[in-house]
Amino acid sequence: MNLFRRPAPSLDDLILDAPHELPSESLMPTVARPAQVFVRGQGSWLWDSEDRAYLDFSQGSAANSLGHSPQVLINALAGQSQALINPGSGLHNRAQLNLVDRLCQHTGSDQGYLLNSGAEACEAAIKLARKWGQLHRGGAYRIISASTGCHGRSFAAMAASAGAGASRFEPLLPGFSHVPFNDLPALHAAVDAQTVAIMLEPIQSEAGVIPATEHYLKGVERLCRELGILLVLDEVQTGIGRCGTLLAEQQYGVRADIVTLGKGLGGGVPLAALLARGKACCFEAGELAGTHHGNALMAVAGVAVLDTVLANGFLQHVRESGLYLGEGLARLAYRYDHGQLRGHGLMWGLTLSDDCADAVVKAALHEGLILNAPQPDCLRFTPALTVSKSNIDEMLVRLARAFARVRTAQLQCRKGIAV
Ligand SMILES: *Cc1c(COP(=O)(O)O)cnc(C)c1O
Repeated sequence: MNLFRRPAPSLDDLILDAPHELPSESLMPTVARPAQVFVRGQGSWLWDSEDRAYLDFSQGSAANSLGHSPQVLINALAGQSQALINPGSGLHNRAQLNLVDRLCQHTGSDQGYLLNSGAEACEAAIKLARKWGQLHRGGAYRIISASTGCHGRSFAAMAASAGAGASRFEPLLPGFSHVPFNDLPALHAAVDAQTVAIMLEPIQSEAGVIPATEHYLKGVERLCRELGILLVLDEVQTGIGRCGTLLAEQQYGVRADIVTLGKGLGGGVPLAALLARGKACCFEAGELAGTHHGNALMAVAGVAVLDTVLANGFLQHVRESGLYLGEGLARLAYRYDHGQLRGHGLMWGLTLSDDCADAVVKAALHEGLILNAPQPDCLRFTPALTVSKSNIDEMLVRLARAFARVRTAQLQCRKGIAV
């Protein structure tokens, strides 16, 4: 062995020549971020402080449903901020009443409530299910969710999610059990007398964009009806048109008792919603509140997004561009020998042939393309719902360059190790 040999270059060194520097050392390093600072956005494009343009196929993890700074959102926020930013959560405002009413009308829900984040909406769904359990199921409180699910990073959401480094924050909130996703017998076997609800994402995002099968979700709904327990669907990511219909549940032909929304609902501003149907509507005064819940400025953003998504032809466009994106990704995956493509509408996951997703994300950034990797071997694509075919074509060109860059680096790396 040659002790004086230089260490083999890391994959990062070979892919990127840019130095890694923190934009601010005062920022808590809870999320790994690249060094660039972003200053401007328009539609599917973002610009950094050096005026480099990036095509954004993450869009703030699917939050910017209409892309960056869409005119409808600018107008809604400007108009509302001049009239009234927030009278306070203890008083009515028009935007809140408007949004909740439209959400209920278009999703076939009886009641809705506005909150600040997806995790908060999931917490509220858990509270609502437990309240219902006390009223109608003799105090049953247990919630069954999927072992690879993700419902947010707050305590109840973390307990519902399992995994994801939660063990460092123990003790977690009790009353949750986890079963493998898309496994009906396992779910059935996990139900006991203390079970009050089953909580699932129709398409698991963090797990690597894994859709529920129709057989599974319909079976889960039937099981809930037979046992008289609640079905909670977390549509924080899949809702508001992301999958080509207003809610993903419509594609499955199922109807949950409680639905959570977030991300795309605000089009980039912090806004989430809890929807309840029929017997699940059981909150009373004093049981759920928050200083910024129903904030007029955020609610009006939700109205603007919802109006846009429900306008004639919009969801049709999402379905068509979703197919176009899926076909393009499948061609590229075939060319580079990568794996399986999964998704609906404009939410896609691509499994890679090895654990190089982080390297591809870095290489893509270098090529002016923003993506993210929910798993070490999976890339996720959640572009603006307004994405154009030419945006998709350009993204595929940049992604191909990123794949090639990583391939080359991997080969050099192997050679380096072999020296
Ligand atoms: C992002 C997400 C959450 C959490 O939403 P936050 O706004 O980040 O708290 C919950 N559930 C699902 C399915 C999500 O994708």
